[in-house]
Amino acid sequence: MIRGAPRARLRAVDVLKAQRLTGRNGVQLKSILNRVQKQPGFVYGQVRLVENVRLELEIEVRPRVRSRACCSGCGRKGPGYDRLPARRFEFVPLWGIAVYLVYALRRVNCRQCGVRVEAVPWGSGKRRLTDTYAWFLARWAKRLSWTEVAAAFHTSWEKVYRAVEMAVEWGRAHQSLAGIEAIGIDEIQWQRGHRYLTLVYQIDEGCRRLLWIGQERRVKTLLRFFRWLGKERSKGLRFICSDMWQPYLKVIAKKAGHAVHVLDRFHIMSILSKAIDEVRAQEVKALKEDGYEPHLKHARWLLLKRPENLTEKQEPRLADLLRYNLRSVRAYLLKEDFQFFWEYRSPYWAGQFLDRWCTRTLRSRLEPMQKVARTLRGHRPLILNWFRARGAISSAAVEGFNNKAKLTMRKAYGFRTDRAMQVALYHTLGALPEPAATHEFC
Ligand SMILES: [Zn+2]
Repeated sequence: MIRGAPRARLRAVDVLKAQRLTGRNGVQLKSILNRVQKQPGFVYGQVRLVENVRLELEIEVRPRVRSRACCSGCGRKGPGYDRLPARRFEFVPLWGIAVYLVYALRRVNCRQCGVRVEAVPWGSGKRRLTDTYAWFLARWAKRLSWTEVAAAFHTSWEKVYRAVEMAVEWGRAHQSLAGIEAIGIDEIQWQRGHRYLTLVYQIDEGCRRLLWIGQERRVKTLLRFFRWLGKERSKGLRFICSDMWQPYLKVIAKKAGHAVHVLDRFHIMSILSKAIDEVRAQEVKALKEDGYEPHLKHARWLLLKRPENLTEKQEPRLADLLRYNLRSVRAYLLKEDFQFFWEYRSPYWAGQFLDRWCTRTLRSRLEPMQKVARTLRGHRPLILNWFRARGAISSAAVEGFNNKAKLTMRKAYGFRTDRAMQVALYHTLGALPEPAATHEFC
């Protein structure tokens, strides 16, 4: 024994348990199953090793003697009707061996529902996966892509999808929607920009998660969100973050006019970046036509990155670039200057800064930047709300979620349908609850 190590003290109960688990012939699979996954009303029978294409374990399940079956319609016990042929329900694999529970479902002659198949504790009679296995796959699907999970456990992509779908449906039915005060509304493009999804996040300091997904980004879309949230809970909203997409602004004003509506930093900075990109692209084209050397061709990231994020190699290149009085450089400097806006504490002084910045930019003769300045002017009050909401909402939350959502989509080869995409997003970003289990299988 290692000196100083605490001595394991076995309580009498543990010893007894260990003995019962081990038995005279060593540990039996049945005993382990009874320990980790008891099935109330049922007992485990014989265990068979079957040599199919791959090795398989079949575990027979029987109803407890004299127990009556429960109706799957109403849950009440009823008189037996007949039995269906035995069926296999896939369970968590062991040592790379597929494991199945084998059971012949009884049918009940229910007084209320008529002849119905019985309810079983390991899953729904319709699904071929046991709940335990479905949760097992769904949990792995948070760490790996669905394709990888399917390969790791010798199962199909379709089964992993069904497992995650089950987890999402359960989680969404059991999640609490109490106390939502701050939400962020964002849109993402998918299928190479052909389609949009509207995503609504809860961004309260203590609770951040994906709340809702809607197709497209129309007025109708966001109206559907507020209908889903309900009147009472909509009244409880205090802060709403969004971009300047007109249909969103319209619906928010109508459905949650009492809340402080903030145009958030992430979206404003991203329209500035887009404008710079436009100026640069125009300039590259113009320089090329005039026969000048294309300094700007590979400068895209130099201009879009924050100076503190530049690499050692990029720094001198940016310095070099800034020596030229290029339109792109002027646009870049305007954007860098705008960063100071976010440093203000008081909405009043921030407003003064915003006005000065807009005036200067409108004189810049950089058309894409002028467009931004006009947009910002048009939304002045909502932009200044940023300073009123400071501290109450987590500013980087929407940006963080946006990145994670994009990552989920990138990993998502195989998600051809909207439905699968939505299931994947809820699964990774929804912070959904899981049922309490007696044993952790992974
Ligand atoms: Zn019934």
